[in-house]
Amino acid sequence: MDKEVRKLIREETQRRDDSINLIASENYASKDVREALGSVFLDKYAEGYPAERYYAGNGVIDALEKLAIQRARKLFSVSSGEWDVNVQPYSGSPANLAVLHALIPRGEKIMAMSLAMGGHLTHGHKASVTGKIWEQVPYGVDRLREEIDYGELLHIALVARPKCIIAGGSAYARKIDFKRMRTIADEAGSILFVDMSHFAGLVAGKMYPSPFPYADVVTTTTHKTLRGPRAAMIFSKKNYSPAINKAVFPGIQGGPHMNQVAAIAVALHEAGTPAFRKYASRVIENAKALANELERLGWRIVSNGTDTHLFLVDVAHRGISGGVASRELEKAGIILNKNMIPFDARTPGDPSGIRIGTPAMTTRGMGMREMRYIAGYIHAILLKKNVAETKKMIKILAKKFPIAR
Ligand SMILES: *Cc1c(COP(=O)(O)O)cnc(C)c1O
Repeated sequence: MDKEVRKLIREETQRRDDSINLIASENYASKDVREALGSVFLDKYAEGYPAERYYAGNGVIDALEKLAIQRARKLFSVSSGEWDVNVQPYSGSPANLAVLHALIPRGEKIMAMSLAMGGHLTHGHKASVTGKIWEQVPYGVDRLREEIDYGELLHIALVARPKCIIAGGSAYARKIDFKRMRTIADEAGSILFVDMSHFAGLVAGKMYPSPFPYADVVTTTTHKTLRGPRAAMIFSKKNYSPAINKAVFPGIQGGPHMNQVAAIAVALHEAGTPAFRKYASRVIENAKALANELERLGWRIVSNGTDTHLFLVDVAHRGISGGVASRELEKAGIILNKNMIPFDARTPGDPSGIRIGTPAMTTRGMGMREMRYIAGYIHAILLKKNVAETKKMIKILAKKFPIAR
């Protein structure tokens, strides 16, 4: 490889090894996943679907795509009689766009948690193409408990009568009651679309409620808690899948990245093992331990805790902005992101909160004891106590839990 890129790879490897990664949407894929990504599948054009390709030479590719689909159904315990799976989306954003493009006429209403309350850009935010093509009807959390208020949600849905209701987001720490979401969708005459990108690995590990008994469509990225390659999948009930497949290709995408599909297949296999189930349980255990310890140190945790791999800390409560907090922590070797909190009085550019997640450090083998250390380090850095000493300890702790190569 050329020297310049080689050098950057070396630098990034060093950066990762030396820091504590609390970005809730990140993880470290296995060597097998990376090997599949760099495999010969990288080079093949395979526009179309198994047995319906536009190019020759796709016999092996067909077997690969069918294997990935079969493993996806098996992992989430869904039957081939009821659910189809599309494993071609390049990532979560095109997957969500494809679902909306397939099922929702232009200009119609889509109801989703607003970005500011913990939703995702691709659920109809104005800055996203989804917010330009469709009209978002936002919902959020209640002020007191900072959890979804299903009564309010029903009320909004009955007034707006959206074509679909999206459940799932990127900064919501609590379990979602999919059964109630189904009832609300039925009463409003809406499709129930669950975006499980963040918690898919927890569903796979049976540590979070499965949306499949209730949803019409489920999308997920494969690189977050699921710990696979950067890619996505769309599960849909049989009546929706022909339109969705057409929306993915040729609607939005061209040739599928078959190396990603190979890596998805590998990750789905890994996620079906008892070791992964243990991992999912430890991810949540660690998030709870970290949130509890921060709370003990006087930090306000949004919704008072977490059921998942992530939570939000209201740092503005102690007079620090989310932007300043994430910058100071980065300088000390703790990597996370600033985040809006519900009813945020500050701006998205410098919000009141930080988002903390445990999938990556749990992959590196950390447990509850290390979570308590990390809480102490965050506390020290943000309150500027023993900064130099704390930075050293952060680096030592990170190095004690190397990333598997
Ligand atoms: C991460 C995420 C996406 C988008 O995924 P990309 O792969 O970054 O495009 C979509 N929806 C939710 C809820 C997410 O968390």
